[in-house]
Amino acid sequence: QFIMGIETSCDETAVSIVKNGREIVVNVVASQIESHKRFGGVVPEIASRHHVEQITIILEEALKQAAMPIGDLDAIAVTEGPGLVGALLIGVNCAKALAFANGLPLVSVHHIAGHIYANRLVKEMEFPLIALVVSGGHTELVYMKEHGHFEVIGETRDDAAGEAYDKVARTLGMPYPGGPHIDRLAHEGSPAIDLPRAWLEPGSYDFSFSGLKSAVINTVHNAEQRNEIIAPETLAASFQASVIDVLVTKTARAAREYGVKQVVLAGGVAANKGLRSALTAVFEELPDTELIIPPLSLCTDNAAMIAAAGSIFFEKGQRADMTLNGNPGLEITIHN
Ligand code: ATP
Ligand code: MG
Ligand code: FE
Repeated sequence: QFIMGIETSCDETAVSIVKNGREIVVNVVASQIESHKRFGGVVPEIASRHHVEQITIILEEALKQAAMPIGDLDAIAVTEGPGLVGALLIGVNCAKALAFANGLPLVSVHHIAGHIYANRLVKEMEFPLIALVVSGGHTELVYMKEHGHFEVIGETRDDAAGEAYDKVARTLGMPYPGGPHIDRLAHEGSPAIDLPRAWLEPGSYDFSFSGLKSAVINTVHNAEQRNEIIAPETLAASFQASVIDVLVTKTARAAREYGVKQVVLAGGVAANKGLRSALTAVFEELPDTELIIPPLSLCTDNAAMIAAAGSIFFEKGQRADMTLNGNPGLEITIHN
């Protein structure tokens, strides 16, 4: 079974072909980061224009690398949402045109289901499992009792983890996206500043990062007023320690409470070195729970993850038709 994935929800134009839901045949990603950097974030209008310019080139590149006629594909999977509406539309329309012209089935994929299924490209998933999703727009704990079963047991009430990283980076004068810069700085400093950790109500699996972000900004401003200088690496390390402490503690608690076989990590912030090593350390102490962490290239947006999730939905018989539209506010649902 060969599934083509198409992903254009944000600022990556990506096309991939995945065999049997698990093996990457090709994975082509064109990032637009350089075009958005000077604006300090993704500009939707610019993102759409880049997708229009890139999509055919990336598609042709993927087919060329795969050395595979399009007729050998079993289905086209595409990100339906959530994301930027103008950006989503480019991928959705490309997928519809391809499916229609070649008589191929069309499968729609939720972007976060894709992020989670990046793990299946690393190792076969075993259920039940808990996915820790940490990306630019989402921070969630998702319980899966089987393929396609996504139950959000906790989510952020305000900022996503990646958003907090990017805002704190901006306060420290670092370019967009700030996550990797904070991560690097954090390893050069020590977490000497005691920043808040939002545990919320006892037993809650929800997250909140806006208070932490404000605390960092206040710490910087207060120091400026007193003409003091706080080393940016100390701030970065303190901020990162707070984020990781909450993410790892809640994930480990969920893994125990739900008695899961696996914990999988997903989303752009999964590229964070501190988070990866903290999770690894915690799950070494829980030998009954296997931890899967995808390589960096599968943590950030790509189309292989969309094809991997699409493969499961395709097998479940899910089909989209020519009325498929980009849906910026799409909720993740349970696929039976
Ligand atoms: P979503 O998936 O929620 O729609 P998105 O697709 O924009 O959002 P991703 O591409 O999955 O998000 O992730 C991008 C985010 O990951 C950015 O906020 C970026 O700063 C963050 N990020 C990337 N690398 C790191 C890192 N090493 N440490 C922390 N954050 C990181
Ligand atoms: Mg991105
Ligand atoms: Fe993403």
